[in-house]
Amino acid sequence: MKVLDLQCALGHVFEGWFASEADFVDQNHRSLVQCPLCGDPSIVKKLSAPRLSLSGNRSNPVEREDEGQDAVNMAINKIEPADALIAMARRILSETTDVGDQFAEEARKMHYGERKMQGIRGTATPDETHALAEEGIEVLSFPSSQSLKGTLQ
Ligand SMILES: [Zn+2]
Repeated sequence: MKVLDLQCALGHVFEGWFASEADFVDQNHRSLVQCPLCGDPSIVKKLSAPRLSLSGNRSNPVEREDEGQDAVNMAINKIEPADALIAMARRILSETTDVGDQFAEEARKMHYGERKMQGIRGTATPDETHALAEEGIEVLSFPSSQSLKGTLQ
């Protein structure tokens, strides 16, 4: 299956699904491909961005610059969440006391004033976390706290 970006004579852009590019050419030749917005059968294949960059055509610097910008944004988007997570985990590790598998018990003690309030971290089963939440005790869960600890310590 091939997905093609298509454009009608009026400039409407839409996606077309074909068995192959040859299939599109054949259907288009017989005017079977029509614009879904206006019914125009004069359909051309829109040049996609990767195609522009592969062509090596330097006559359109604005287009190329835009592509570069996209690539940078994508890289930032990929890196940022992980960095934020690690920074957060680092802060949690430095500001909390590790209570291991006593986490649920210690969190409960603090909640009911039986223990000095302080940041704690540790492990809790999903059942324990659920029970804490039902008692109104807020718990921040890290799905991979063990592997983060390994990286940071
Ligand atoms: Zn159209």
